Amino acid sequence: MLPRIVVAGNGQLGQMLQQAGAPMQLKVMPVEPNQDIEVALHADDVITVEVEHWPDTVTGLQLKNHPNFRNASALHAVIDRQRQKSLLDQLQVPTAPWVDLDSEASLTEKLESLGERAVVKRRRGGYDGRGQWRWQRGDEVEAEWAETCIAEAMIPFSHEVSLVGARNAKGEKVFYPLTRNWHENGILRASVAGLDVPQEQQDSAEEWLSRIMDDQNYIGVMAMECFVVDGKLLVNELAPRVHNSGHWTQEGATISQFELHLRALAELPLIKPEIKGVSVMYNLLGRTWKTEWLGIDGVHVHWYGKSLRPGRKVGHVNINRPTLAQLEESLKALKELVDDEDRIAFDWSLEQL
Ligand code: ADP
Ligand code: MG
Repeated sequence: MLPRIVVAGNGQLGQMLQQAGAPMQLKVMPVEPNQDIEVALHADDVITVEVEHWPDTVTGLQLKNHPNFRNASALHAVIDRQRQKSLLDQLQVPTAPWVDLDSEASLTEKLESLGERAVVKRRRGGYDGRGQWRWQRGDEVEAEWAETCIAEAMIPFSHEVSLVGARNAKGEKVFYPLTRNWHENGILRASVAGLDVPQEQQDSAEEWLSRIMDDQNYIGVMAMECFVVDGKLLVNELAPRVHNSGHWTQEGATISQFELHLRALAELPLIKPEIKGVSVMYNLLGRTWKTEWLGIDGVHVHWYGKSLRPGRKVGHVNINRPTLAQLEESLKALKELVDDEDRIAFDWSLEQL
């Protein structure tokens, strides 16, 4: 009997985990943790997350205190950027130089120690670029940064990549190839996968993520975002869950990141996913989609069914083709059918091929 997988959070990630479990009749139940009702959990349920933090509500505590709540230690480390960076330092995983902003008196001095420019990040609760400020020498500092933020040197990266991998209880691990990502104002616009990746980068990234997952006795999918500087990687941040930069695996790999996560949690065989051709993932940020898109080869729309708000992630489109030339053809065709403001994501994707 397969266990039921209960997901803390009821957004699109839980929904996509549910879709991945369906062919195997593996039950996946998303639960909103931020509510004061008692939910009916079974003793053999396995609890995972799509959000990293929630308040101590009745449901929230029930999930956290369940004996099969997975990855409490990794979540504890990751929800606070100060702890996350300290863990990476301790495991000798290279990151952007960073400082703790622990007192108001030394804010300027600490920021200046990072060089001309820094990124100030709230320790808790930031995502999609929220809770971050760009600072440069001579700028005012905000008193509120003390004790609530860390700061990192501004990294002049050539591009950003991420590694998505999974580990099971036996300590077996599998990884996808590095995905190339483009963020605008801190929010992921598009990813490209299936391109040639320098072996050295792939090896270092896998070695670091293995070290992190092993240290945390981690079970499931974890994503690691990196900056590429002069061909070398620096780790930006970790996500102890399925990740937006892994959405291309839904059509671009024999096993999606969602299925991989479920396999690890349900103790099903964890084998290395094979990559199918080349893929682009493009986020629908406060946009609707058009049925004509489906007339283009390799296009798959994933619509989350959320209400539309400017900039809100309401869906994504995966474009998967066997060859680069075919992918280019599909991207060019789709570019003509999307909103003007989104063409830039296609220009970026085409440049990467
Ligand atoms: P979030 O949790 O919001 O994803 P990140 O720390 O990943 O926060 O920052 C979002 C984006 O902001 C990154 O993907 C990158 O594009 C940019 N960024 C973050 N930190 C730095 C840095 N130290 N140097 C340069 N760019 C950065
Ligand atoms: Mg990030």
